[in-house]
Amino acid sequence: MLTRFAPSPTGYLHLGHAYAAARAFEFGHCLLRIEDIDHTRSRPRFRDAIFRDLRWLGFDWPEPVRVQSGHLADYAGVVAALGARDLTYDDYTTRRGEADMSRPPAIKLSVDRCIDVLGAASLSFSDRGRDIPVDLRALPDPTLERRDIGTSYHVAVTHDDALQGITDIVRGTDLFSETGVHRLIQALMGWPEPRYHHHPLVMETAERKMSKRTGSQTIRSLRDSGMSATEVLDLAEARAEG
Ligand code: GLU
Repeated sequence: MLTRFAPSPTGYLHLGHAYAAARAFEFGHCLLRIEDIDHTRSRPRFRDAIFRDLRWLGFDWPEPVRVQSGHLADYAGVVAALGARDLTYDDYTTRRGEADMSRPPAIKLSVDRCIDVLGAASLSFSDRGRDIPVDLRALPDPTLERRDIGTSYHVAVTHDDALQGITDIVRGTDLFSETGVHRLIQALMGWPEPRYHHHPLVMETAERKMSKRTGSQTIRSLRDSGMSATEVLDLAEARAEG
């Protein structure tokens, strides 16, 4: 059994990450993966801080750490393979809904064509031991290559989970709704089906989850304030919903 903790270096880790890391690393065998495909938001200083903060919290992982930005050709290969099966299409639509042909398009997966190829309109995944159905007809066509970064989270995360032999995916419930798309890509690519364990989130307020963008309490600021690693992990646990 193998899991992974897969933060994106787009900000400093906060209490929510401390909780998520504890859930993943307590699993037993856990890899660390840096998900930095978004070059518009990822920064080396945040990546370095991830290593430092996790070590300070007491976690340890095997080397080498997979850093996704070094493997963009792998992700392009997945999209090309799906394209060769006529499952993708180019989308020139901007966020404002206009067509802009002056830039490379986004590449999307046609869920209708996937349903034909799979010969089924539903899939399922295991979450904390429960079987969760996925109605493919309810899925909007997912983006496989974003216009701004040339790849996508969905492709990179499913590719790497398969490549690294991840059997169990421990991550927050904020990603529960993405799992249907991940199952679809796994089914199309013939990749193994991991078990999912979506855990509760640490909330900033009753309505709002912790976020790098809103400047939630970072692990480094808590460390600098004199808290011990155990106190930070206990605080994260206490603030987790449910
Ligand atoms: N890199 C993602 C994030 O930071 C997590 C990916 C995953 O666990 O599937 O939110």
